[in-house]
Amino acid sequence: MGEVRDPARGVVLREVADSSVGDVDAAVERAQRAYQRWRWVSPAERGRLLRRFAAVVDEHLEELARLEVANAGHTIGNARWEAGNVRDVLDYYAGAPERLTGRQIPVPGGLDVTFHEPLGVVGVIVPWNFPMPIAAWGFAPALAAGNTVVLKPAELTPLTALRLAELADQAGLPEGVFTVLPGRGEVVGERFVSHPAVRKICFTGSTEVGTRIMAGCASQVKRLTLELGGKSANLVFADADLERAAASAPYAVFDNAGQDCCARSRLLVQRGVYDRFLELLEPAVRAFRVGDPADESTEMGPLISAGQRDRVAGYVDGSRVAFTGSRPDGSGYWYAPTVLLADSPGDRHWREEIFGPVVSVLPFDDEADAVRLANDTEYGLSGSIWTRDVGRALRMARAVEAGNLSVNSHSSVRYWTPFGGMKRSGLGRELGPDALHAFTDVKNVFVSTEE
Ligand code: NAD
Repeated sequence: MGEVRDPARGVVLREVADSSVGDVDAAVERAQRAYQRWRWVSPAERGRLLRRFAAVVDEHLEELARLEVANAGHTIGNARWEAGNVRDVLDYYAGAPERLTGRQIPVPGGLDVTFHEPLGVVGVIVPWNFPMPIAAWGFAPALAAGNTVVLKPAELTPLTALRLAELADQAGLPEGVFTVLPGRGEVVGERFVSHPAVRKICFTGSTEVGTRIMAGCASQVKRLTLELGGKSANLVFADADLERAAASAPYAVFDNAGQDCCARSRLLVQRGVYDRFLELLEPAVRAFRVGDPADESTEMGPLISAGQRDRVAGYVDGSRVAFTGSRPDGSGYWYAPTVLLADSPGDRHWREEIFGPVVSVLPFDDEADAVRLANDTEYGLSGSIWTRDVGRALRMARAVEAGNLSVNSHSSVRYWTPFGGMKRSGLGRELGPDALHAFTDVKNVFVSTEE
């Protein structure tokens, strides 16, 4: 049994039974049987079922959002966006089965065509920081391409995934097509990896676990998508709109209490405007509204667990604190937004993913220095570039090694554009038009026209 807690109050919400290896094996067998039918369901009908699933999610949007507020401490505004994102991702990929076209390639002596064949059973492993969207980014395209899915939510946050499985049922998805198996990573997750009938793993989580999973998949040449950690840079040039850059910087790192793989947790400011920028940043950080996540005006809730709060505090202790925001008292896992001054790029808080509401600041001299510092990390997930010079924006966007960059904005994720990391931030891309192909293999068929 796993205890599921409300992180804003520190109390147990519910107990959820952990799945065993035997439960996984039985579910995979059901998913395999379901696959034999699901893959042949006509494209229009598969699309219709996914659209119906999206509609049922939409009807339960507020319920799902409230469940996430209770289980993950997400602000109600964010949680509504997340439930809406599940609906949108399902709607988007509901259009895919009818568009999953192959090619006809000119060859002598016959006809050559390609098919995008589904893989079989896909195992999706989800972290606790965005339980709903990250689940949907895996299961929606996988199902659209004709695969069946077994999904493991994180131990701390299984409630919305379990509810989504019920809603899939209600929408009419056939039995065994989408199964949620709560439980421990080393049991359920590892069995997904070792089970020969699971043909692909779609993993989001820490780089450490992702590396292990990659090694585990190698022995079966199992397909794999990895979305891992990040330590993204927010680059502010002297010619930028400093007021806008400073006003938005807290949202780029403190959203979801910094438990965001795309958090711009390294703030690089051009030396000539460094002091001015910090002057502008301070009131924005102090004004950041931290509190009860169910309150409509709250901008940041608690951290996910006491353990995570202690981990975050471990990075701040002994570091140079520029200023902090506020935090409520009480039994929740609260941590105030914190701005740290880095002494050098060697500082631990500058290099390691903290996954909490902490941003480190460092000055840079020129474009070359900014590129060098931004790329001096094992990660490469996202980043922002603030400048009014279009040429510089494009030069920087090409030079920074990250999968998702934004100029004069902090946007990272749109369900219809590709998302994923370079370097040790991941492998493969989710979302957008191409994600579907990550859940298929290309088959080439030659038909002779010889008499
Ligand atoms: P985690 O790696 O500890 O756990 C992620 C999931 O993997 C959980 O469901 C867990 O139970 C499971 N797991 C753990 N050990 C396993 C094993 N041996 N085999 C199979 N599965 C196993 O990560 P976390 O602490 O839940 O999440 C935080 C991390 O996720 C951060 O590093 C963050 O950057 C990353 N993240 C990345 C993205 C992205 O898209 N790149 C998005 C969200 C989170």
